[in-house]
Amino acid sequence: MPGTICKSSNERGAFGLVVSRGCPYNRCAFCDLYKDTTYREVPLERIEAELRRVHDVGGTPTNLMLGDGDALHMDMDRLMAILDLIGRYLPSVERVTSDATVPSIARKTDGELRELRRRGYAMVYVGIETGLDDVLCQMHKDHTNDQAREQVRRLHAAGFELGAHIMTGVAGAGRGAENARATARLLNELRPSFITNFNLGVNPLTELGRWEREGRFVRASDLECMEEERLLVSGLAIDTVFEGYHTKHVACGEEVAAGDGPEWQRAITQWVHTKAKLPEGRERILAKLDASIAQLREAQASAARPEPVCC
Ligand code: SF4
Repeated sequence: MPGTICKSSNERGAFGLVVSRGCPYNRCAFCDLYKDTTYREVPLERIEAELRRVHDVGGTPTNLMLGDGDALHMDMDRLMAILDLIGRYLPSVERVTSDATVPSIARKTDGELRELRRRGYAMVYVGIETGLDDVLCQMHKDHTNDQAREQVRRLHAAGFELGAHIMTGVAGAGRGAENARATARLLNELRPSFITNFNLGVNPLTELGRWEREGRFVRASDLECMEEERLLVSGLAIDTVFEGYHTKHVACGEEVAAGDGPEWQRAITQWVHTKAKLPEGRERILAKLDASIAQLREAQASAARPEPVCC
């Protein structure tokens, strides 16, 4: 069944079951995932047909991720009906996960969260993004950090695990260190068992892309984003798994214009991926970031050096 499930590597082996298309909120300024999709729920008959198909071909997944953008948003009756179908056709499934938002957690009562957890719904991935409230507001996120604290507290009380999605670079140029400290502080309070850093990429077709063209948002350099991740990882004082994805625009130096699509694509020349269990793997992540930071500093320095004069 077609859909767009944003999976972190933690869910790479999970079977993705699309139960709703798109995101019911769909207004975050940086997000390009579901801009062309109107939110709608997939009819139960189609969900059942998909589960029957997997059952009939002998599928025995243990992990299942509900899609697309915010499955927890759905009404309780519908969620329970879907969990029933999963149990009937795929009894091998031990753990159900999905993306969620702070408001979608708030829509559920404590008793409903406990009931979902009892039925195998075990973890949700929430776009926490940043520890800076003014940045959440600027990016049109649908929560404040105090609301996130309260809803994650309820989530944990019901026995759910939290996966936190964050974005280095989201505060813009010059605010990387401030964002790293604030986000590390927040994550230490929220205690996610998995953190994914999708470093900010600006798609020219989003609202943020427009702000950038109009000079209302200045993107942080690759170097600043790497240094931000380094500071963030150094400040995490919890047992968790941290994973980070960066693009490194080495061929173009640090200046990558948000031009048309192909130009923007060509500018991406390398991925820097970090992943380790903390605290034991912290030094491994820092060493990898240090190597990239040194490379970017060197590129910056050589770009600033005058060309030798030949005679
Ligand atoms: S809530 Fe998530 S999926 Fe929806 S628009 Fe915001 S970032 Fe995108």
